[in-house]
Amino acid sequence: MKNNTLKSFQRKERNLRILRDRKVEVLGTIKLGGGDAHVVRCPFEYLHTSPSNFGEATAFFSGRTPWISCFHDSCRESLAKLNRSMALAAGNPLAKPWTKRSTYSPGSVVSTVPKLFSSKFESGDMAKFPEIQEIVREFPWSKEQVALDSPIFLSPGRSFDEDWVDHLRLFHSTGIDGEVWLGRQRDSGWPSKSIHFRHPADWLSEAEPIPYLPLTTPAFFAAGSYSRSNRNVIARPFLVIEHDRLGHKESLALYRYLREVKQLNLRAIIDTAGKSLHAWFDQPSPTHLQELQPLLDAWGFDGQMKAASQPCRMAGAIRLKDYDDLTDEHWEDNFVGWQHLLFLNL
Ligand SMILES: [Zn+2]
Repeated sequence: MKNNTLKSFQRKERNLRILRDRKVEVLGTIKLGGGDAHVVRCPFEYLHTSPSNFGEATAFFSGRTPWISCFHDSCRESLAKLNRSMALAAGNPLAKPWTKRSTYSPGSVVSTVPKLFSSKFESGDMAKFPEIQEIVREFPWSKEQVALDSPIFLSPGRSFDEDWVDHLRLFHSTGIDGEVWLGRQRDSGWPSKSIHFRHPADWLSEAEPIPYLPLTTPAFFAAGSYSRSNRNVIARPFLVIEHDRLGHKESLALYRYLREVKQLNLRAIIDTAGKSLHAWFDQPSPTHLQELQPLLDAWGFDGQMKAASQPCRMAGAIRLKDYDDLTDEHWEDNFVGWQHLLFLNL
């Protein structure tokens, strides 16, 4: 993708224009070829209740949309509105017009306190599992709410590079000393494929994310592996579930139910840019999993997820129809979308 540098240059230029249209005062000179963070004057400095940071805020302008972050709390709501309006101006499909005050403060950890549920949602003597439609009614979870409940704040101005890095940080956070596979379906099974198996820290030391390796697995492999075969798996810290027939609304409600009622620890939700949303949970204990299995089966979740080395979508990667053809001429036809994070708990 030789157009990468040009595209990122144009994106920065556009984002900078959006900032200037909104009279955001940039302190110092911005080099378009330089880093992506720059010091600006907080446009809502007059709301600040203390003089810390001299009214300075940070603008990030190499992502999909420009994004301003300020140290102060008192300007947060106004800044959130401005950030939304800039995201809309940049045509960010993830941006929604600002409607109401959010209760989320970036940087804090939001814990969803499980409600006390009526007995029909408690397991035990339940004759049958709750129907999916019943769960959707009782446990609605819109994408906006998912974003607000995400312990790591995923701003609308975020770049896909950050998603890629954060997905690897999720592996890294387990502290497991093993290799993570990234690749296309067939990047496994031959010694030459060993470059697709690396320690998370080694992937993270890449100068830039590699967006055209669209798949990973929820497993760690032994050092020196070149095949995703189950015998090379040394740890499987995550349980990834997906449903290829349910819509987003239904999937999100089920994930919320599994998190709040079944006490699974949700670590990430990845929008695959296709039909399904993948939920990454911490691997439950074998007993817990055995208990959940009939429920997951009854809901029609893919039996595949039991396979440790099941390929699933990598956040921050590009979804293409054909990964063998990265040429510019066919790009428009080939491009499906970006795989991205909707929720992250590091
Ligand atoms: Zn401020």
